[in-house]
Amino acid sequence: MMDVLGGLVMAIEGGTVEVVDLTIPLGPDTQVIGLPPTFAASPGVTIDEISRYDGRGPAWYWNTIRMGEHTGTHFDAPIHWVTGKDLPENATDTIPPRSFLGPACVFDATREAAADADFLVTPEWIGAWESRHGRVPRGAWVLLRTDWSRRSGAAFLNADAAGPHTPGFHAAASALLAHDRDVLGVGVETIGTDAGQAGRFNPLVPNHGIMHGAGKFGLASLCNLDRLPPTGSVVIAAPLKIVDGSGSPLRVLALVPVRDAVDR
Ligand code: MN
Repeated sequence: MMDVLGGLVMAIEGGTVEVVDLTIPLGPDTQVIGLPPTFAASPGVTIDEISRYDGRGPAWYWNTIRMGEHTGTHFDAPIHWVTGKDLPENATDTIPPRSFLGPACVFDATREAAADADFLVTPEWIGAWESRHGRVPRGAWVLLRTDWSRRSGAAFLNADAAGPHTPGFHAAASALLAHDRDVLGVGVETIGTDAGQAGRFNPLVPNHGIMHGAGKFGLASLCNLDRLPPTGSVVIAAPLKIVDGSGSPLRVLALVPVRDAVDR
């Protein structure tokens, strides 16, 4: 039998497979999603020192962290949404670990998002992508590249009087990916997996409702998607094993074949 894992270790060591970090820094400056004031807000990150080689602990440094489960680069479990509340294995501690990794399909919508902050991926758009790169395989992570992670400050949430303007998925596109393509879930560079204006859509915030109702996952606030090819990389996204957790901050890693190295 071919030594797949030995080959992977050699490829990483030899530089023919690169490990790309798709995670933004997690700290007090990390932006959190804004909801209408009628709803409870998720807190930002606070980090309190327990000790730092001082009287509180002379040889050790550690902190207490506090934040909402959906903060920074984070995972959405099916139980996060009412549509997924009764599904089996729907929380961070019960999802089978096999479901945390899969091949990545990178949807590059940078041009569309630059021209229209409210751009939505449609089934037709996915069809055009598949005609170039092949059918989205079962168990794939679909990652929507918009270069939104290059934005900072107010430009990241991009809100005006009508609310946030950030790209996302049309309901029909979410349904196609969840039900027909049977993906693991979708990942985005924006603060949530729905478009900024999705609170005004019918159905409301459709990507969450459709994906989580189908037992699928979400990844938000990703970065470095520009370093991934359209297909051919593998993404590992394993949330903290929070008991009955609706999601968690996490480190998202991609194993990416280095084209020049592969061609050599
Ligand atoms: Mn979330």
